[in-house]
Amino acid sequence: MASPQYDYQHQLERKAANSRLETLGPIPCRRCGQPVHCDAQRHLNRDGRKFELGHGVAHINNGDGSDKQPEHAYCNEAAGGRLARARQRAARATRDWGDTPSTGPRRVVLLVGPPGAGKTRAARTSGLHTYDDDDTTTLEQLANDPDARVVVIRSAPSSDERASLVDQIQATHVYLVDAPDHVIAARLKARGRAHMVAVARWRAAFDDDDDVAPFTGWEPVLRETRATREWP
Ligand SMILES: [Zn+2]
Repeated sequence: MASPQYDYQHQLERKAANSRLETLGPIPCRRCGQPVHCDAQRHLNRDGRKFELGHGVAHINNGDGSDKQPEHAYCNEAAGGRLARARQRAARATRDWGDTPSTGPRRVVLLVGPPGAGKTRAARTSGLHTYDDDDTTTLEQLANDPDARVVVIRSAPSSDERASLVDQIQATHVYLVDAPDHVIAARLKARGRAHMVAVARWRAAFDDDDDVAPFTGWEPVLRETRATREWP
């Protein structure tokens, strides 16, 4: 269901929508007509859950996301479930394994975090090609590569830096790789580089205004590919 930029941009858009609901008050859910409240007042939503940003025409049906609106999570899921089942039926009906391309859907994953947090280690387990240098030429090319399946490693402590990188490489996913300082200190020491100053500098510059998601493994990133392959 993920499309380029979906995860990260969607987070930012959802945050903006929540601000609008806080400022302007609840709006009617386009699916059920009942009010959709901001996160702080989610107990007033019919399902008691945080709202979701729904699409009139979902990404799953090639919507471009320009008509996103806050909806009840319950209502959004009900609509999405219908779409997913319809798509799955269509895929079963038309599947032709002989024509399946060897490359999967585009994945450009930005991993950020302080030195020694384990970004390179995490990237290695993805099975995707990893860029951990500052080759901007390569990065520019990534943005225009519809089949790119890579991991890009940067420190990018601020949400501004991340937003700029996401734009530059047209990242599909952004994750924060972090670890407790004592773990990082032990790693850096083992590498003969006990520079916790750089870590402290990173922490001082860090902000999560973009709600950057913690890295929890590759399953969420590679799930779609696997699910597609498992379809009978
Ligand atoms: Zn609703």
